[in-house]
Amino acid sequence: MNIHEYQAKQLFKAFGIAAPQGKIVTAAADAVLAAQDIPGETWVVKAQVHAGGRGKVGGVKLAKNMAEVKQYAIDMLGSRLVTKQTGLEGLPVNTVLIEKTYPIKHEFYLSVLVDRASERVMFVCSVAGGMDIEEVAAQTPEKIITLLVDPAAGLQSYQCRKVAFDLCLQGAQVRALEKIMQGMYRLLLEKDASQIEINPLVETDDGELLALDAKINFDDNAVALHPDILEFRDQSQEDEKENIAQQFDLNYITLDGSIGCMVNGAGLAMATMDLVKLKGGAPANFLDVGGGTTLEKVCEAFKLILSDKNVKAVLVNIFGGIVQCDVIAQGILTAVDEVHVQVPVVVRLEGTNAEKGRELLNNSDFGIVAAENLASAAEQVVALANNEGMNV
Ligand code: GDP
Ligand code: MN
Repeated sequence: MNIHEYQAKQLFKAFGIAAPQGKIVTAAADAVLAAQDIPGETWVVKAQVHAGGRGKVGGVKLAKNMAEVKQYAIDMLGSRLVTKQTGLEGLPVNTVLIEKTYPIKHEFYLSVLVDRASERVMFVCSVAGGMDIEEVAAQTPEKIITLLVDPAAGLQSYQCRKVAFDLCLQGAQVRALEKIMQGMYRLLLEKDASQIEINPLVETDDGELLALDAKINFDDNAVALHPDILEFRDQSQEDEKENIAQQFDLNYITLDGSIGCMVNGAGLAMATMDLVKLKGGAPANFLDVGGGTTLEKVCEAFKLILSDKNVKAVLVNIFGGIVQCDVIAQGILTAVDEVHVQVPVVVRLEGTNAEKGRELLNNSDFGIVAAENLASAAEQVVALANNEGMNV
């Protein structure tokens, strides 16, 4: 689960990580009042979306007076921000963060995450922080430094000092960095975050270290243990289809191909996607309808798949063990009728009463293809999606 920058900064505060003073507003009319509460001559206005890369597309603006604060808030609120990290549709800006500004001497990169390869918590840092960190990592990887934490010993002072020296920090800054790193480490463990990123971590003109940006991802499987984190959830930033799927207990993930997939069982769903790829197609989604497939679930699954305008054909792959294939076939027919499915549907049914199920599908008026086996089902659905006119 992702949260907004301003929420991450609230957590930073609770864990002793220094960040700029700021206020959020959801209406442009409140922007000036909020800025008046923040000392200084200039302010930064930041669009709150669950994505980085805002600075490069007008999602972070430096306001030199109150009129600009207001104008930037008007421009941002209610718009959709498209960054390198969002899809083409972007994400809605419903909140802006107004912050105190600082003269910046240097921008560092500092993050902590769970490194799967070493099975340890890892810090990643760089002197070359800021908006071009991806390029730094790609072109000058030697500028990226990593540090692994021993889970038994925890994060050691000497490790923080080493990072501080690598970042060319001195004196009180070394202790300040250690405080930030210890705070990040504690936050990661206590709240089951999977990644905390500060980019940039800045050194101000008077030598202070501050988290100017803040990004935190939480482990979805642990977030139920943290009601305070769950409160931060903002569904407007999430994939609408994935949220609907959750309501119906369907495991759905949007992909960018043209073949909608409806499968029971996550393993079979993945194998089905592999096979679609092998036959030259591209899946539009991952969808596991689960074990006890009901008519309601099949209907909702069809609705979800078809709400994606890229879908040119649907492949249903159901292994009928607990549920019998003829019951499933009846469910598919009802769903196709109710949801007014307009694209070709190829069905592969296997298991109890498979023959009976195929017969029902073949005798329907909907032109559903009941395939004999999975390989041929995949082949047919790819051909249909590519509009190659297979005989239906
Ligand atoms: P991102 O592009 O979504 O990662 O947004 P950031 O919060 O990292 O902001 C992008 C850039 O805006 C930063 O790298 C800074 O250079 C600049 N910026 C953000 N806040 C301030 C500030 O308070 N003062 C100044 N001078 N620049 C800022
Ligand atoms: Mn940033």
